[in-house]
Amino acid sequence: MNVVILGSTGSIGTQALDVARRHPDELRIVGLAAHSSSEMLVQQAQEFRVKRLALGNEGLRDSATLAQLPHDARVDFGLEAIEELCEIEGADMVLNALSGAVGLRASYRTLISKKKLALANKESLVVGGDLLMPLADSDSLLPVDSEHSAIFQCLLGEDSKTVNRLWLTASGGPFRGRTREQLAYVTREQTLAHPTWKMGPKITVDSATLMNKGLEVIEAYHLFGLDYDRISVVVHPQSCIHSMVEYCDGSVKAHLGVTDMRIPIQLAFSYPQRWQAPIEPLDFTQLGTLSFEPADEQTFRALALAKEAGRQGGTMPAVLNAANEIAVQSFLNRICGFLDIERIVERVMLCHNPESVCSLEQLEQVDGWARATANDFLRAL
Ligand code: MG
Repeated sequence: MNVVILGSTGSIGTQALDVARRHPDELRIVGLAAHSSSEMLVQQAQEFRVKRLALGNEGLRDSATLAQLPHDARVDFGLEAIEELCEIEGADMVLNALSGAVGLRASYRTLISKKKLALANKESLVVGGDLLMPLADSDSLLPVDSEHSAIFQCLLGEDSKTVNRLWLTASGGPFRGRTREQLAYVTREQTLAHPTWKMGPKITVDSATLMNKGLEVIEAYHLFGLDYDRISVVVHPQSCIHSMVEYCDGSVKAHLGVTDMRIPIQLAFSYPQRWQAPIEPLDFTQLGTLSFEPADEQTFRALALAKEAGRQGGTMPAVLNAANEIAVQSFLNRICGFLDIERIVERVMLCHNPESVCSLEQLEQVDGWARATANDFLRAL
């Protein structure tokens, strides 16, 4: 299978290339895109002999690093160049591991050009699920998010009408059990120390606020077509169960495994097959206690806000997501505090009357408005 990887120098992208390294007979990498990490992109292109490359950052056009590329490799610049990789001839699948709503157009162009989409960019569905899902069928959209890959697997062979409830598990992040008074003073460094998963900075902050779980609820709503009152979140600090599906006869199917993103990435590539992987197996005799508790939505209000945005629907999740991206970046830049993230998101949501989703252009316009409004609130803090 010929694969394009968008976001190849990030956490998911590098792990996807690990999978490709293990399965050279199954996977050929035909396109790679990154934002700014030109040096790593060049190394990847050399190792996997990739001829089509894209860098989002146009300022790197004259970078000396690029001179080391093989002469038959072509590199283009800008967001448009990244999106064009979704349509290259001969590619069968695109792994979208871009970060943020900027990944929506790439997901859209992949599905429109009838290629398979392995989706690690959950923001695509949060913002544009209403546009993307009508373009997808059960074989063309493969979730890479660990919870959604787990649910996807629990649903295999089942009649979707017999599903009562989806249970999304959450690790609870580094601040589980903290009070709001304590959260007001947590630092960037404490926030980036996630207890169970190793990920990029944006999603790690989202995991600490529980916004990530909120975005995943919206993602699950689009992927699996269940109402919000049938999608539940449960905190499970050991992250051993990756999610569960409850059926009408009282049966519950759970997906378990070690916390290694190469498992869901590989399944998206191999489905409907499974391939060998040198993953350390779970040793149930050494596992000890698995514990569960409700998510504390009073303390971690981002989760409640995301569910509210999902229920309101239309353009509201796009607003939630854009305001969150701005607020998280500001937190990472030490411009605002941890609790300001949810405050900014809530204020921007209160200024928006959601409309039904009709086009990419409409979503991008709403996204731009929400970013500008979030920046206004940040300046006023
Ligand atoms: Mg996840």
